[in-house]
Amino acid sequence: MQTIRLARKLTYDSMLDGEGLRTVVWTQGCLLRCPGCHNPGTHDLLGGFEESVEMLKFLFSHARAQQGVTFSGGEPFLQVDACAELARYARKHLHWNVWCYTGATFEELRASGKNLPLLREVDVLVDGPFILAQRKELRFRGSTNQRILRLRDAEIVGEMDAQGVFHAKDGKSMGRRAA
Ligand code: SF4
Repeated sequence: MQTIRLARKLTYDSMLDGEGLRTVVWTQGCLLRCPGCHNPGTHDLLGGFEESVEMLKFLFSHARAQQGVTFSGGEPFLQVDACAELARYARKHLHWNVWCYTGATFEELRASGKNLPLLREVDVLVDGPFILAQRKELRFRGSTNQRILRLRDAEIVGEMDAQGVFHAKDGKSMGRRAA
């Protein structure tokens, strides 16, 4: 049975962790220890509790009016396979879009093939560590170094600006929707 280690139960109806009404998966475990981390209780790799991936799929499928799932934490990429399986299910069966937070940069993640299963399922990646000296009240992110990247097939196709609009690499607007 495939399991995932969670910091807490699912959050439903979140509007803070990506566009639209979202279900948030709080993964347990992070090695970065960013000073000022908003969620230090998620660091311990053995903290939190284990949940079966099948149970989370069941809960996803019974959630009402959700437009997407967001993987946060903790570091979702420490549990690539379980998060990828959930993301695949959410996209294919529920037509949800997928946001994912990570303390690594996209380039760091992309350098390792082991991250591809999850990167391929992510529509929007909020990347980079939280840097206390760059903290700012920003939509969907905590410090100015973090980027909100639109991905397709594990490649960057756009980035969100301060007004919440995605722009393609050529500068053309892609609108606000993640997928
Ligand atoms: S990557 Fe996120 S969860 Fe991990 S220490 Fe930094 S802010 Fe905290």
